[in-house]
Amino acid sequence: MTNDSPVFAMDSGPFRDVIPILLDYLDLKSRVQLAQTCRFWKYRIYIDLKRWPTTLELPYLGSMDNYVGIHHSLEEVVHAKLWSMVRPPEDPRALENVLKQIASSDDSAQRFSLVTKINFKNFIHTDESLRLTALLFPAIEEIRFEGNLLSINGIHHIAMQCQKLKHVEFYQCENVDLREAFRIFDSQEHQENLERIFVYRGFWRNLAGQIPLMEDLPFMAPCEKCGLYYNQLKNEQKMLCLYHPGVRIDTNEHSRSLFSCCGSNTPRYPSTLGCQYTFHTKCSSDSFRKLHDGLPEYMFQKYSDVKFSLRCYERRRLDKCYKRWNL
Ligand SMILES: [Zn+2]
Ligand SMILES: [Zn+2]
Repeated sequence: MTNDSPVFAMDSGPFRDVIPILLDYLDLKSRVQLAQTCRFWKYRIYIDLKRWPTTLELPYLGSMDNYVGIHHSLEEVVHAKLWSMVRPPEDPRALENVLKQIASSDDSAQRFSLVTKINFKNFIHTDESLRLTALLFPAIEEIRFEGNLLSINGIHHIAMQCQKLKHVEFYQCENVDLREAFRIFDSQEHQENLERIFVYRGFWRNLAGQIPLMEDLPFMAPCEKCGLYYNQLKNEQKMLCLYHPGVRIDTNEHSRSLFSCCGSNTPRYPSTLGCQYTFHTKCSSDSFRKLHDGLPEYMFQKYSDVKFSLRCYERRRLDKCYKRWNL
């Protein structure tokens, strides 16, 4: 027997088979606490990456937009997951600081390597937070670029290291040349995995000069039905295009119109792309369809009216934050 004998005994024979079952009974917090008790548990808990959750969420941290405050409380909005009605945290580096902390421990840096989904809620990315995201979460399948705190450098980190990405979204990234951003994703790995790229151009701004062209990312094409860029090589495998098969009917009520298929009567709300799935259709004309400003958590789901208890018409106004941050 050596000094390590207890470790040896615990990690051998029938006990080894029991360990995974034991760990399954513990929540994340208990597992972290157990890992702190001795080397054996620390090793067993951190070595088996499959035991860690594959999604990571941050809590909401911030204040409500004024126009929401009149009718709804922060709790209601948070409960409905309408993160876009919540402004980013006061500190523009909040996300960066959280990720820095995670990356500072070797165990942590390791344990998120199989995470496929991160939800940073109303936090906002900087180049540094994107660099850390790429480092900590190389297996993520979705990324959302939003706002002016990031540049092409941050996008570069993600595109190079997160090669399993399926969904990429750009919202109000006015410091980024979208054509250049698209070109970064032109690789074999992204060609195999990417399903859609969404570009939110804003309703009031003319960003026409930045519209990515086919030559920038040849395997992706804009869809005339849903307005997303889709992977042409994958289009025949699966129906991923959401659209309204019906027609718009004018109603006398408040001079609004509704879709005959599902009754959706507020085209800019609640931000869904449609109520039926079909295959994407390549956009033939130059006048590429403008998408409404949406809430990302709902935008890519089938339209169903009952889900939305709150009314919200626009994405959050980041310009107010930039003013505060002197940008
Ligand atoms: Zn419909
Ligand atoms: Zn489509």
